[in-house]
Amino acid sequence: VTSADSLLCAPHALTMDGSGVGYLADAALAIDRGRILAVGRRPEIAQEYSAERTIDRGHHLMLPGFVDAHMHTGMCLLRGLAQDTHHWMMHGVGPFSAHLSPQAMDAGTRLAVLEAVRAGTTTFGDFGWSMDSVCAFLAQVGVRGAVAVTIREAEQRIYAPGELYTFDRALGRRQFDANLQLFDRWHGAANARLRVFFGPQGADFLSRELLLEVHQAARARATRMHMHVAQGDRETAQIEQRYGCRSIACLDQVGVLDANLLAVHLTEASADEARLVAERGASMALCSGSIGIIDGIVPPAAAFQSAGGRVALGSDQAPGNNNHNMFNEMKLTALFNKVHAGDPEVMPAWRVLRMATIEGAAALGWADEIGSLTAGKRADVSLIDLRRPTLAPVHLRPMRNLVPNLVYAARGDEVDTVLVDGQIVVDKGRLVTMAEDQIFSEAQRYAAAIGPAAEAEFFRIDNANARAMRDGNL
Ligand SMILES: [Zn+2]
Repeated sequence: VTSADSLLCAPHALTMDGSGVGYLADAALAIDRGRILAVGRRPEIAQEYSAERTIDRGHHLMLPGFVDAHMHTGMCLLRGLAQDTHHWMMHGVGPFSAHLSPQAMDAGTRLAVLEAVRAGTTTFGDFGWSMDSVCAFLAQVGVRGAVAVTIREAEQRIYAPGELYTFDRALGRRQFDANLQLFDRWHGAANARLRVFFGPQGADFLSRELLLEVHQAARARATRMHMHVAQGDRETAQIEQRYGCRSIACLDQVGVLDANLLAVHLTEASADEARLVAERGASMALCSGSIGIIDGIVPPAAAFQSAGGRVALGSDQAPGNNNHNMFNEMKLTALFNKVHAGDPEVMPAWRVLRMATIEGAAALGWADEIGSLTAGKRADVSLIDLRRPTLAPVHLRPMRNLVPNLVYAARGDEVDTVLVDGQIVVDKGRLVTMAEDQIFSEAQRYAAAIGPAAEAEFFRIDNANARAMRDGNL
């Protein structure tokens, strides 16, 4: 008999091992010092391992924690303030994001993490401005993160459609330095739960020289570059004006399309361009909800996958998605791609569940440690209550309905328990490592200052939401 810290038992498990979801009935997991020792049928595991603690759930489904590969948690206080309008970045979120203080971003991060972890997300691919406090918070909550600093040279102001960005070399240098310092401070910290990536905002936001420098810095440190790629017609117009080529051809010329790159969105990429990025070995982060709301576009993830590329899912940001919930991302990814292709067999439920777990982990370069319930990996696990209206009844023959119900019916509040590194982070649907009430009241307090500060610019720009407010329709 081998000793373990804990045994986790449930009538059903989706291990995500193999090429599908790796279903296992009457499942048990032996965990020791944060690592999965063994996965198997309960009678065998119980015989072989003696544990100090047994978490035994009678009507639950066990699965790996979700990987949310692309997020801007610092924007969470702007939830619901920028959708249903053209020119999202400049005219939608621009008037509000100008008034996000570092403290307001931190309060937003805390709210976003609370929301996501309660819906089963255990790995946070976060991207933003003040990331030191984000790393500290993720470490404190006890979750996992791949965190990058926004690196840009384009001066921060609202540009008119088609206006070429003006570059501020000193800003680019400052942000690059901040990313380098973040790497030195946090990469491998918190029991190796934190990794630091490098975050050039996009091909249009910095010079090719700085982009190449950032790329080399990431490569020298054996970490990834996390970058928006072909993120909308705004970027395409900037790149064509500046270099006379489209984003992906330009990035290929610079030489940054490689296995080290996590390419986010590919909103404007043609199927051929998506295939080129995949063939260069890069991974893709697909943000179906965000790009659907912001651009009304379905990015070419199916083409990317058919060229052999790995696709992760991302919730992006709350002002234009408008949540951090991987159940929402899975459902929208499946639905949008079916509608787009006019084919119900495109993006089946089991495939999008893989994107939210093992394929997402691979896209972050982390599949050796997370993404599946496999002996030797870290114990990042969710237990989902099947005695909820959205997940009942359970069918096992002739087909199992567990995965379709998770993807098409569940909303996230069915998540009962979440463990990261074998430690309980969510219990009975509540975050146990932080005070939830404080997170809500702090978010509301910082949010209160944003609206009045943004009001004049909001009505001057007069986007679709401003008109709807003026007309009394919103
Ligand atoms: Zn983004």
